[in-house]
Amino acid sequence: MTQGTLTDILSLVEKHDRLFLTSHVRPDGDSLGSEVAFAGFLAKLGKQVTVLNSGPPPMNMEWLPGVRDIGVFDGSLAHRQCIDEAGAVFVLDTNAENRLGKLAGPVRGARGPKALIDHHTHPEDWFDVRYVSTAVSSTGELIYEIIAACDPDLIDVRIATALYTAIMTDTGSFRYQGVTPKLHRIVADIIERGAIVPGLVHSAIFDHRSMEGLYLLGQALETVRLYCGGRVAAITVTPRMLEDTGASSEETEGFVNFALSIDHVEAAVLFLETAKGTKMSFRSQGDIPVDKWARAFGGGGHKNASGAFLLEPLEKARDKVLRAAPRYIGVSASNENDPALSTEDVADLASLLETRFKKR
Ligand code: 5GP
Ligand code: MN
Repeated sequence: MTQGTLTDILSLVEKHDRLFLTSHVRPDGDSLGSEVAFAGFLAKLGKQVTVLNSGPPPMNMEWLPGVRDIGVFDGSLAHRQCIDEAGAVFVLDTNAENRLGKLAGPVRGARGPKALIDHHTHPEDWFDVRYVSTAVSSTGELIYEIIAACDPDLIDVRIATALYTAIMTDTGSFRYQGVTPKLHRIVADIIERGAIVPGLVHSAIFDHRSMEGLYLLGQALETVRLYCGGRVAAITVTPRMLEDTGASSEETEGFVNFALSIDHVEAAVLFLETAKGTKMSFRSQGDIPVDKWARAFGGGGHKNASGAFLLEPLEKARDKVLRAAPRYIGVSASNENDPALSTEDVADLASLLETRFKKR
């Protein structure tokens, strides 16, 4: 395994005619945008490209031109051959085998070299080439660099739209760490080349809540509880709530940010109960390393946004994860068993926190 450079990626591309791309389970704007852009670029170089993921795109990404060319791996011989006979395999926007879902086995077993293009920490060691930067905003930014290093004029409207989508979604609309003057220059170039109207892309992705999704948000907000002296917030979604409202679990996207937006909260976790276990989404402000918190439970991600999945029922998982909170948010263990605050308390949060912080 080597730490690769842009040149290593381009020479892999140059060497092989048949290429295979994939990304993580529950694909998002960055994984899909990066796949569409990279596949579009490779096609322009005359390559034969197959892109397969473990699952379909979420509804709010269906509008993205090119996303329909991404297939869902079905285990068929034809799909297995695409992977096996590829000159090289590219894994985008995830560095862990267990994030590849049904594609994990076929990708690990592929004959060709396996290249990683990603911005997460702690990459696994089975990649032959790793083009990784944890400092960049998104995998989309790395894909832009690869294309620009080859020939920026290859960035057409479709590629530009995909890159803009990747970068915008992974930066929380240009808010998170990794949003630098350099990134803004890259985005300016993308906007020009794609004649992008930022408001339209934003609206296509974020202004598509269903009434069911909105009712679910209402129910989820009632579950918000505070821990660690009001510095940590938990929000919960159960299958019962999905059933009650008729919303789908993918409509919980972004719920955790409501919990994080509470005054004085520095880290928030969404607990989504599923038939197989509990999915957690961690978010934080500033220096709180939720990637370490998620890794303690087999997950991973970024310092301010990470996730994990526990094969345990909701209450057990939530209890375990929240008990560990003090270790990652830097409060003393004496706060560890702070009782959760009720929603009534949340309503009166300002005065409550005032008294709590004064006590410290
Ligand atoms: P989300 O909370 O939106 O599902 O994920 C936020 C971030 O955490 C993403 O960057 C994603 O790659 C990462 N992430 C989410 N779930 C998992 C997981 O189960 N394992 C690992 N390693 N990373 C995850
Ligand atoms: Mn990403």
